[in-house]
Amino acid sequence: MTEETPPCAECQKYTALREKAKQSGDYRAAADYELLRRQHPSHEMPSVTARWGLPT
Ligand SMILES: [Zn+2]
Repeated sequence: MTEETPPCAECQKYTALREKAKQSGDYRAAADYELLRRQHPSHEMPSVTARWGLPT
């Protein structure tokens, strides 16, 4: 995961929801949102081209 890659809209949404849940003390919901965020990590995983050292 690189700093220069901004999180996608979905991840931002889930992160925001997670933080909100955490702040309201709902750690169960926070964990659920964290899971959701991790479940669509296509942009966080090394792509096939990245693995081969080519520009993505
Ligand atoms: Zn995402």
